[in-house]
Amino acid sequence: MRTGINHLFIPGPTNVPERVRQAVNVPMQDHRAHDFGAPNLGIFRDLKALLRTRDGRVLLFPGSGTGAWEAAITNTLSPGDRVLMARHGQFSALWVQMAQRLGLSVDLIDLPWGAGAPISEFERRLGADTKNEIKAVFVTHNETATGVTSDIGAVRRVLDETFHDALLFVDAVSSIGCLPFEMDLWGVDLAVTGSQKGLMMPPGLGILGVSPKALKAAETATMRRAYFNFADQIENNDKGYFPYTPPVQLLHGLRAALDLMLEEGLDNVIARHRRLAAGVRAAVQAWGLEVCAESPSLYSDTVTAIRTPAGVDARDVIRIGYDRYNASFGSGLGPLAGKVFRIGHIGDSNEGMCLTAIALAELSLAAAGASIRFGAGVAAAQQVYALPQAQAAQIAAQ
Ligand SMILES: *Cc1c(COP(=O)(O)O)cnc(C)c1O
Repeated sequence: MRTGINHLFIPGPTNVPERVRQAVNVPMQDHRAHDFGAPNLGIFRDLKALLRTRDGRVLLFPGSGTGAWEAAITNTLSPGDRVLMARHGQFSALWVQMAQRLGLSVDLIDLPWGAGAPISEFERRLGADTKNEIKAVFVTHNETATGVTSDIGAVRRVLDETFHDALLFVDAVSSIGCLPFEMDLWGVDLAVTGSQKGLMMPPGLGILGVSPKALKAAETATMRRAYFNFADQIENNDKGYFPYTPPVQLLHGLRAALDLMLEEGLDNVIARHRRLAAGVRAAVQAWGLEVCAESPSLYSDTVTAIRTPAGVDARDVIRIGYDRYNASFGSGLGPLAGKVFRIGHIGDSNEGMCLTAIALAELSLAAAGASIRFGAGVAAAQQVYALPQAQAAQIAAQ
């Protein structure tokens, strides 16, 4: 029998705050009623602020991040279009697979899992493409499988410097609402996220930021699309309605989640993620273990992927954590299975939760055969969390 709570330290679905859980508990509503639409206009407005776009728009699809990936591709590209993509983790790999299944011609850059987006290789390939044959560049902002955050602003600079007009697709599923994200400033044309990561909601919504340039591309792109058709959404969204039944209860949850973020202040949300992540990384260092990310500039403030020492199977760590300590850690995905476990510090989290994650990881690591001095990671994280907040965030940024 399990007592107490199951500690959810996976990077999605993330913990849902009580206020959001209460908010989704609503009697069902008439989604065509004359007063259903108005409150949703505020949701669209606040989502635009969250994505930092004035000129673009945000679309909501029943589904998840993967659905929003598909919506982005099928609405703006045509079969056989050449696109530039890098594969350096499970999520970037799955996006490549989807692009290929949908009939795109993918110029693929394969990198070690733990690397960031290949800025100079993008520059080389875009610079060589003087005829603008590459129609889109795809980037995974935060590779959740490896705990790697890539520099989207740098990708935009490369596009500008090579005078390239490819669309910029960004998977921001585990970054929007936690890490700095600047849709307009970075010239992101399609910004993908979902409800169950940084937005602290139950799964069920795919969220997509679309730039004016992407909307224009949708007018002439010829890939087949039906359920995810932008035009159907836009026709209805302007009055707060949807072309088919929306997940009504999730709209209430989204309202509550956006309110929580606005009350805390987006800058404070970002600083909190930075501070909590710094504590977790200090713990990993104190254990003498390595993170998956190749260099400090790539460290993710929403998830840390930790390599287990030689001879210690990360699957055992995860299994012991779950069975014995009622704690869920993220698994090593794809080729990282058995080599990596992950601690999510994304969304509705705090110092106490991170310290619990670290303490239970110590127990699980030790039981799986790692040589761990109990409390070493906890103490290292406490040193970070004891600092005044501004100072801790500064350390994390280094
Ligand atoms: C979770 C995640 C996805 C997939 O989203 P689903 O909501 O599971 O469909 C895609 N990309 C990244 C970076 C993710 O973290």
